[in-house]
Amino acid sequence: MSGGAAMAVDWEALVARAREAAARAYAPYSRFTVGAALLGADGRVYAGCNVENASYGLCLCAERNALFHAVACGCRAFAALAIAAPRPSPPCGACRQALAEFCGPTLEVAMASLAPGAAPTRAFLGDLFPDPFTC
Ligand SMILES: [Zn+2]
Repeated sequence: MSGGAAMAVDWEALVARAREAAARAYAPYSRFTVGAALLGADGRVYAGCNVENASYGLCLCAERNALFHAVACGCRAFAALAIAAPRPSPPCGACRQALAEFCGPTLEVAMASLAPGAAPTRAFLGDLFPDPFTC
């Protein structure tokens, strides 16, 4: 599936949704609360937050939480992604690979801090993750 459809993206609203999701993060171990908001080609926003576990390997990132939520709702094409974290942070490597399964290199990703009003940095998935694994 290719991302980056010709959908107008309200980045301010999408970042706000990511910040709202970050407020629901369950991160008692790292205290690094992250929220992600994925704009589906269907116009809906799918949010996710990181969810940690006492068994650390079971922790799930906000980005994959949002992506899997979207897929579970039947959405497999995406127009944009916003991430909010204590400091502007790109998706981890695992999330980049997961995103590449459904999103093309032109998917634009906004990386914001949790502070309202702070301008996010933006990058394309293809620049963050230029050579995804395929089989
Ligand atoms: Zn991740």
